[in-house]
Amino acid sequence: MKQKTKKILEILKENYGHLGSELKFRNSFEVLIATILSAQCTDKQVNKVTQPLFETHDSPEKILALGEEGLYEKIKTCGLAKTKAKNIILTCEKLIYEFDNEIPNEIEKLTELAGVGRKTASIVLAFSMGIPAIPVDTHVFRTANRLGIVKAKTALATEMQLRKILPEKLWIPSHHWFIWLGRMTCKSQNPRCAECKLFELCEFSEKIK
Ligand code: SF4
Repeated sequence: MKQKTKKILEILKENYGHLGSELKFRNSFEVLIATILSAQCTDKQVNKVTQPLFETHDSPEKILALGEEGLYEKIKTCGLAKTKAKNIILTCEKLIYEFDNEIPNEIEKLTELAGVGRKTASIVLAFSMGIPAIPVDTHVFRTANRLGIVKAKTALATEMQLRKILPEKLWIPSHHWFIWLGRMTCKSQNPRCAECKLFELCEFSEKIK
Protein backbone atom coordinates (compact mmCIF):
# COMPACT_ATOMS: atom_id res chain seq x y z
CA MET A 1 0.00 0.00 0.00
CA LYS A 2 1.27 3.50 -0.84
CA GLN A 3 2.47 5.62 2.09
CA LYS A 4 -0.09 8.25 1.19
CA THR A 5 -2.96 5.75 1.29
CA LYS A 6 -1.70 4.50 4.64
CA LYS A 7 -1.71 8.03 6.01
CA ILE A 8 -5.22 8.68 4.68
CA LEU A 9 -6.50 5.51 6.34
CA GLU A 10 -4.87 6.47 9.64
CA ILE A 11 -6.60 9.85 9.57
CA LEU A 12 -9.92 8.27 8.63
CA LYS A 13 -9.61 5.81 11.50
CA GLU A 14 -8.76 8.59 13.95
CA ASN A 15 -11.80 10.60 12.91
CA TYR A 16 -14.42 7.98 12.14
CA GLY A 17 -13.12 4.80 13.77
CA HIS A 18 -15.77 4.97 16.48
CA LEU A 19 -18.65 5.04 13.98
CA GLY A 20 -20.32 2.07 12.32
CA SER A 21 -23.56 1.20 10.58
CA GLU A 22 -26.70 3.04 11.66
CA LEU A 23 -28.95 0.18 10.58
CA LYS A 24 -30.38 -1.82 13.46
CA PHE A 25 -30.52 -5.60 13.08
CA ARG A 26 -30.05 -8.83 15.04
CA ASN A 27 -29.08 -11.37 12.38
CA SER A 28 -28.29 -11.82 8.70
CA PHE A 29 -31.97 -12.07 7.69
CA GLU A 30 -32.67 -8.70 9.28
CA VAL A 31 -29.60 -7.10 7.67
CA LEU A 32 -30.74 -8.41 4.31
CA ILE A 33 -34.26 -6.99 4.63
CA ALA A 34 -33.08 -3.70 6.15
CA THR A 35 -30.54 -3.22 3.37
CA ILE A 36 -33.08 -3.91 0.62
CA LEU A 37 -35.26 -1.27 2.29
CA SER A 38 -32.41 1.24 2.50
CA ALA A 39 -32.28 2.02 -1.24
CA GLN A 40 -33.13 5.72 -1.54
CA CYS A 41 -34.12 5.85 2.12
CA THR A 42 -32.12 6.96 5.17
CA ASP A 43 -30.95 4.38 7.69
CA LYS A 44 -32.93 6.20 10.39
CA GLN A 45 -36.15 5.85 8.41
CA VAL A 46 -35.40 2.18 7.71
CA ASN A 47 -34.97 1.59 11.45
CA LYS A 48 -38.33 3.22 12.14
CA VAL A 49 -39.91 0.72 9.77
CA THR A 50 -37.94 -2.40 10.63
CA GLN A 51 -38.04 -2.17 14.43
CA PRO A 52 -41.81 -2.77 14.64
CA LEU A 53 -41.74 -5.06 11.58
CA PHE A 54 -39.10 -7.40 13.03
CA GLU A 55 -40.87 -7.53 16.40
CA THR A 56 -43.65 -9.54 14.79
CA HIS A 57 -42.13 -10.68 11.47
CA ASP A 58 -38.59 -11.91 12.00
CA SER A 59 -38.40 -14.77 9.52
CA PRO A 60 -38.92 -15.37 5.78
CA GLU A 61 -42.13 -17.37 6.52
CA LYS A 62 -43.67 -14.62 8.61
CA ILE A 63 -42.91 -11.92 6.05
CA LEU A 64 -44.11 -14.13 3.20
CA ALA A 65 -47.37 -14.66 5.07
CA LEU A 66 -47.99 -10.90 4.97
CA GLY A 67 -48.19 -10.94 1.19
CA GLU A 68 -47.13 -8.04 -1.00
CA GLU A 69 -50.00 -5.76 0.04
CA GLY A 70 -49.64 -6.49 3.74
CA LEU A 71 -45.90 -5.87 3.62
CA TYR A 72 -46.38 -2.68 1.60
CA GLU A 73 -48.60 -1.28 4.37
CA LYS A 74 -45.79 -1.83 6.88
CA ILE A 75 -42.96 -0.38 4.79
CA LYS A 76 -44.72 2.35 2.83
CA THR A 77 -42.81 5.19 4.51
CA CYS A 78 -39.62 3.97 2.81
CA GLY A 79 -39.22 5.16 -0.79
CA LEU A 80 -39.99 2.79 -3.66
CA ALA A 81 -42.11 0.74 -1.26
CA LYS A 82 -44.13 -1.13 -3.91
CA THR A 83 -41.02 -2.42 -5.65
CA LYS A 84 -39.35 -3.21 -2.34
CA ALA A 85 -42.40 -5.13 -1.08
CA LYS A 86 -42.42 -7.18 -4.28
CA ASN A 87 -38.68 -7.91 -4.07
CA ILE A 88 -38.77 -8.81 -0.39
CA ILE A 89 -41.64 -11.25 -0.91
CA LEU A 90 -39.75 -12.87 -3.82
CA THR A 91 -36.60 -12.99 -1.72
CA CYS A 92 -38.40 -14.68 1.19
CA GLU A 93 -39.91 -17.23 -1.20
CA LYS A 94 -36.50 -18.06 -2.64
CA LEU A 95 -34.90 -18.30 0.80
CA ILE A 96 -37.56 -20.78 1.91
CA TYR A 97 -37.89 -22.90 -1.21
CA GLU A 98 -34.40 -22.78 -2.72
CA PHE A 99 -31.98 -21.93 0.06
CA ASP A 100 -33.31 -24.09 2.90
CA ASN A 101 -34.16 -20.99 4.91
CA GLU A 102 -30.46 -20.09 5.14
CA ILE A 103 -28.96 -16.77 4.14
CA PRO A 104 -26.24 -17.63 1.58
CA ASN A 105 -22.69 -16.71 2.50
CA GLU A 106 -21.46 -15.99 -1.04
CA ILE A 107 -21.96 -12.85 -3.11
CA GLU A 108 -22.94 -14.87 -6.19
CA LYS A 109 -25.77 -16.66 -4.37
CA LEU A 110 -26.97 -13.57 -2.52
CA THR A 111 -27.26 -11.61 -5.75
CA GLU A 112 -29.70 -14.24 -7.07
CA LEU A 113 -32.22 -12.81 -4.59
CA ALA A 114 -34.65 -10.16 -5.85
CA GLY A 115 -33.58 -6.62 -5.02
CA VAL A 116 -30.10 -7.73 -3.97
CA GLY A 117 -27.18 -6.22 -5.85
CA ARG A 118 -23.51 -6.50 -5.10
CA LYS A 119 -23.57 -3.72 -2.50
CA THR A 120 -26.42 -5.28 -0.52
CA ALA A 121 -24.82 -8.72 -0.74
CA SER A 122 -21.52 -7.30 0.53
CA ILE A 123 -23.29 -5.60 3.44
CA VAL A 124 -24.92 -8.88 4.48
CA LEU A 125 -21.57 -10.70 4.35
CA ALA A 126 -19.65 -7.95 6.13
CA PHE A 127 -22.13 -6.82 8.79
CA SER A 128 -23.75 -10.06 9.84
CA MET A 129 -21.18 -12.75 9.01
CA GLY A 130 -17.90 -10.89 9.42
CA ILE A 131 -16.82 -12.07 5.95
CA PRO A 132 -14.41 -9.52 4.43
CA ALA A 133 -16.23 -7.48 1.78
CA ILE A 134 -16.26 -3.86 0.61
CA PRO A 135 -19.77 -2.60 -0.01
CA VAL A 136 -19.43 0.38 -2.35
CA ASP A 137 -22.26 2.87 -2.06
CA THR A 138 -22.37 6.42 -3.37
CA HIS A 139 -20.25 7.75 -0.46
CA VAL A 140 -17.53 5.11 -0.77
CA PHE A 141 -17.42 5.61 -4.54
CA ARG A 142 -17.17 9.40 -4.26
CA THR A 143 -14.69 9.71 -1.39
CA ALA A 144 -12.29 6.95 -2.45
CA ASN A 145 -12.13 8.49 -5.93
CA ARG A 146 -11.81 12.10 -4.80
CA LEU A 147 -9.03 11.19 -2.41
CA GLY A 148 -7.26 9.44 -5.26
CA ILE A 149 -7.02 6.06 -3.52
CA VAL A 150 -8.73 4.58 -6.56
CA LYS A 151 -9.37 5.86 -10.04
CA ALA A 152 -12.59 4.21 -11.11
CA LYS A 153 -15.69 5.07 -13.12
CA THR A 154 -18.05 2.53 -11.54
CA ALA A 155 -18.87 1.11 -8.13
CA LEU A 156 -17.67 -2.32 -9.23
CA ALA A 157 -14.31 -0.99 -10.44
CA THR A 158 -13.97 0.95 -7.18
CA GLU A 159 -14.59 -2.20 -5.17
CA MET A 160 -12.12 -4.25 -7.23
CA GLN A 161 -9.39 -1.62 -6.87
CA LEU A 162 -9.98 -1.27 -3.12
CA ARG A 163 -9.81 -5.05 -2.77
CA LYS A 164 -6.37 -4.99 -4.41
CA ILE A 165 -5.03 -2.00 -2.49
CA LEU A 166 -6.31 -2.61 1.04
CA PRO A 167 -5.46 -5.53 3.32
CA GLU A 168 -8.51 -7.70 4.01
CA LYS A 169 -8.69 -6.71 7.65
CA LEU A 170 -9.38 -3.11 6.58
CA TRP A 171 -12.15 -3.87 4.08
CA ILE A 172 -15.08 -3.67 6.51
CA PRO A 173 -13.80 -0.82 8.72
CA SER A 174 -12.68 1.33 5.78
CA HIS A 175 -16.15 0.98 4.25
CA HIS A 176 -17.55 2.70 7.35
CA TRP A 177 -14.81 5.37 7.35
CA PHE A 178 -15.44 6.34 3.71
CA ILE A 179 -19.17 6.52 4.38
CA TRP A 180 -18.80 8.78 7.41
CA LEU A 181 -16.32 11.01 5.60
CA GLY A 182 -18.88 11.33 2.79
CA ARG A 183 -21.81 11.97 5.11
CA MET A 184 -20.12 14.47 7.38
CA THR A 185 -17.49 16.28 5.32
CA CYS A 186 -16.95 15.19 1.73
CA LYS A 187 -20.50 15.84 0.64
CA SER A 188 -21.55 15.31 -2.94
CA GLN A 189 -22.37 19.00 -3.51
CA ASN A 190 -20.23 21.52 -1.65
CA PRO A 191 -17.70 19.29 0.10
CA ARG A 192 -16.43 20.93 3.30
CA CYS A 193 -12.80 20.92 2.20
CA ALA A 194 -11.85 23.81 4.49
CA GLU A 195 -12.56 21.71 7.56
CA CYS A 196 -11.35 18.39 6.10
CA LYS A 197 -8.44 16.69 7.87
CA LEU A 198 -7.47 15.09 4.56
CA PHE A 199 -7.13 18.31 2.57
CA GLU A 200 -3.36 18.10 2.06
CA LEU A 201 -3.52 14.47 0.93
CA CYS A 202 -6.64 14.70 -1.21
CA GLU A 203 -6.25 14.57 -5.00
CA PHE A 204 -9.66 16.06 -5.86
CA SER A 205 -8.99 18.73 -8.50
CA GLU A 206 -11.93 20.85 -7.29
CA LYS A 207 -11.05 20.92 -3.61
CA ILE A 208 -11.23 24.45 -2.22
CA LYS A 209 -9.82 25.76 1.05
S1 SF4 B 1 -10.46 17.76 0.79
FE1 SF4 B 1 -12.55 18.08 0.07
S2 SF4 B 1 -12.77 16.70 -1.67
FE2 SF4 B 1 -10.99 16.03 -0.51
S3 SF4 B 1 -11.75 14.46 0.90
FE3 SF4 B 1 -11.77 16.40 1.99
S4 SF4 B 1 -13.83 17.20 1.67
FE4 SF4 B 1 -13.51 15.60 0.14
